[in-house]
Amino acid sequence: MGASPISIIQQHRRVKPYVSQNKEILKDSFGRKHSYLRISLTERCNLRCSYCMPLEGVTLLPKSHLMNAEEVFQIAKIFVNEGVDKIRLTGGEPLVRKDFPEILRKLSSLPAKLTMTTNGVTVDRHFDLLKECGMQTINLSLDTLQKERFKEITFRDQFDKVHENMFKLLELGFKVKINVVLMKGVNDDEIIDFIEFTKNYPFVVRFIEFMPFEGNKWKRDQTVSLNEILERLNSFYPKNDILRIPDAPNDTAKNYKIKGYSGEFGIISTVTNPFCDSCNRIRLTANGQLKNCLFSQSESDLLTPFRNGEEILPIIQKAVGKKFAMRGGLSKPDDFNNPEMHHNRSMIRIGG
Ligand code: SAM
Repeated sequence: MGASPISIIQQHRRVKPYVSQNKEILKDSFGRKHSYLRISLTERCNLRCSYCMPLEGVTLLPKSHLMNAEEVFQIAKIFVNEGVDKIRLTGGEPLVRKDFPEILRKLSSLPAKLTMTTNGVTVDRHFDLLKECGMQTINLSLDTLQKERFKEITFRDQFDKVHENMFKLLELGFKVKINVVLMKGVNDDEIIDFIEFTKNYPFVVRFIEFMPFEGNKWKRDQTVSLNEILERLNSFYPKNDILRIPDAPNDTAKNYKIKGYSGEFGIISTVTNPFCDSCNRIRLTANGQLKNCLFSQSESDLLTPFRNGEEILPIIQKAVGKKFAMRGGLSKPDDFNNPEMHHNRSMIRIGG
């Protein structure tokens, strides 16, 4: 029996990977070069944080609609050939994918720095793999240091596991960034507790302003702003003890440290002080749709043409070229703060 058209295409790709001659494919009309690809591996998660996943849940796509391990690899390779040098795996929860080890091993053969955002619940199953694949930094999401509150936020009783894994990661030499989505009346009383957590341990805590996505019942007044966080800091620590530390290029966070503390903290202020000027990020959803911005209201299908054996670079170039200057075109605070203006997926289906 002859080979199927798909396997012929795949063989062809393996033999002759396409490398474009145009090094500006990932540059948008504002001159921003996109070197950081975030790939969502799944829409599923083993936690139920309502700011991320709508309370009624999401309709999961059939597995055949999602990129398989080889497709993740081949599509990522196309981006790497065009200048992507950092890939973040996210989701949903990336570690619920059974073929996560296969995906990671394949991606680790590419000349790009690999990293991941995880809720940490099952990360201990993969410590050796993460080391083997050269991962050095892991973003772990943890919105509270209180066991009971963790259950209220995530609807799951996994605090001890996450807490334990977070420390194990540190012991194993990973740099651990802790993502904390701050919400008024939910966990904003823990700002100082989280900073104190950096006293003896070299964690990097990152406070994230609560952002609007489909189905998450976002309200502007539930977002704890950069300025409010700074006010709390200033009223707790002596002024000279709060050190502003340099931000890395393209950093999303404004970074700080308390004098003498082992760790650091940062504030990601997408809502009140967006950092779109230096954005170098593009996103691929689990079903292979390219989003040129977290808030983009349109998507470009890469998976269908890829499966049809078509060239996807022109689609990528067009999508990057259409990127708005700021937050998917919702640049004015009045537009951004109006949930009705947002025509986007829920965060769990984008990949944070
Ligand atoms: N399951 C993984 C995890 O929990 O880290 C990865 C996916 S999650 C969507 C990625 C990040 O997005 C998490 O740090 C999460 O806290 C953040 N996130 C989700 N919804 C958000 C929202 N509405 N506003 C701000 N950050 C949000």
